[in-house]
Amino acid sequence: MCFPARKLLWFPPWRSLQPHQPVRASYTIGCEETKNVVDGSPSASYMLELLAFLLPVAAASGWYAAQRRYRSDYLRHRAKAFHESYTRGVGFLLQDKVDEALEALSPVIHSDGEGFELRLALGHLFRKKGLVEKALALHENLSSLAGLTKDQVEFVSYQLGMDYLAAGLLDRAETAFKALLETERYRAEALRQLLKIYQRERDWWQAIECARQLRRIQKLPHGETVAQFYCELADNALTAGDSEGAWRLLRTALEEDAHCVRATMGMGALLVESAAWADALGVLSQVERQDAAFVSEILDLVASCFKGMQGDDDFNNYLRHAYLQHGSEDAACMLVERLKCSDDINGAIAFVQEALGRTPSLKLSRKLVMLLLRSAEGAQREALHLILQALPDPTSDPARYRCHRCGFQARELHWNCPSCHGWETIKPKH
Ligand SMILES: [Zn+2]
Repeated sequence: MCFPARKLLWFPPWRSLQPHQPVRASYTIGCEETKNVVDGSPSASYMLELLAFLLPVAAASGWYAAQRRYRSDYLRHRAKAFHESYTRGVGFLLQDKVDEALEALSPVIHSDGEGFELRLALGHLFRKKGLVEKALALHENLSSLAGLTKDQVEFVSYQLGMDYLAAGLLDRAETAFKALLETERYRAEALRQLLKIYQRERDWWQAIECARQLRRIQKLPHGETVAQFYCELADNALTAGDSEGAWRLLRTALEEDAHCVRATMGMGALLVESAAWADALGVLSQVERQDAAFVSEILDLVASCFKGMQGDDDFNNYLRHAYLQHGSEDAACMLVERLKCSDDINGAIAFVQEALGRTPSLKLSRKLVMLLLRSAEGAQREALHLILQALPDPTSDPARYRCHRCGFQARELHWNCPSCHGWETIKPKH
C-alpha cells in the first residue's frame, strides 16, 4: 500500500531559488518517486511541494495578522468607550449630578479588574455626599474581587470601615478597624477611628487605651484628650454618688494634663461641697494660671469660699483683680452689684470709670449709665435714658460661649463641642 508520504526538505527551500548554487535533493509526493535535481531549474513537482509548504505559512500569517488587527480594534474600541464614559461621568460629577455620573460611569464601575482607582474615588465621593449605601455596595464589590494586592485589600477594608462609621454601624466599623490594627500602614489611622467610635459610645476606658496607643505610635500630645476622658469618668462617678472615686479620677486627669481647667474646677467644687473653703480657694486659684478665660466660670465657687471664710472684703478684692488682671466682665458686674447692695454707689461708679478707662466694655457702659440714673434729674436724666436706649443690651444675646475652633455658639458650657467635637474648645465669650 502506498501512503501519501511527504519527505520534507531538510534544507530551506528558498535556497533553490538562489542562482548559481546547485541544489540536490530527493523527495516523494504521493507515490511518485522523483528524480534528483542537479544544477537546473526546479521541476514542476518541486514547485508544487514548495507551494504546499508556503500556503499554510501564508494562511497562518494571515490569520495571525487578522487576530492582531481584531484585538487591536477591540482594544481601541474598548478604550474609546471607557474614555467616553469617564469623560461624561466626570462632567456630571463636576455639575454635582451624582446619579447621572453613576449611570455614565457604569461601564467602568462594573468592569472586572479595571477602574479600581476610579471605583475607590467614587466610593469616597458617595460617602462624602451622604450616599453611604452606594459607597458600601461599591467597596463590598471591590473587596470581593480576586487578585487584589495586599495594599489594595487593606485600603478597601479601611474604606469599608469608614462607610460603616458614616452609616452609624459602629460595631461593624469597630471590627473593621480592629482588623487593621495588625497592619503597619493603617494602624495609626485605625486607632484614630476607633478613638472616635469609643467617644461616640462614651466608652471612656477604651478611648483612654486608644489615645495612649496612638500617643506611643505617633509621639503626639494627646494628654489633653485623655484628661477629658478621665473627667467624663469622674462625672459618671459623681452621678453614681461616688465622690471619692470622682476625686481620684480628677487627680489622674490633672496628672495627664496639668492645664485641665475642667479637672481643677471639678476638684474645687468637691472641696466646696465638703466646706473645705481654704483648700477649695487654693485649688480654684489655679484656674487663672491654666486658662484665664475660665475665671468667670468659677466666680460662684469662689464666692462660696469667701462667704464660708467670712471674707466679704477679700471677695471684692478678688473680683477687682479678676477684672483688672483677666478682663472678666462678669467679675466687674458682680462687684458693681455688691457695691450697690452695700449702698456704696460712689465706690461702684469710681470702679466702673476705672475699668472703662482700661478697657471699653458695653456691659460696663450700661452699668455706669444706670448708676448715674439713680441720682440724675431733669434734662440730665432724660439724656441718660436716651443713651441707655441707644446702647445695645449684651444680655439679649443668649449665647455666652463660643467654640474658638469652629465658631459654634452655646448658652451652656460644653467641654466637648457639639459641632466640631473638639475638647475644651468652647470658652466664655467675655
Ligand atoms: Zn467647635
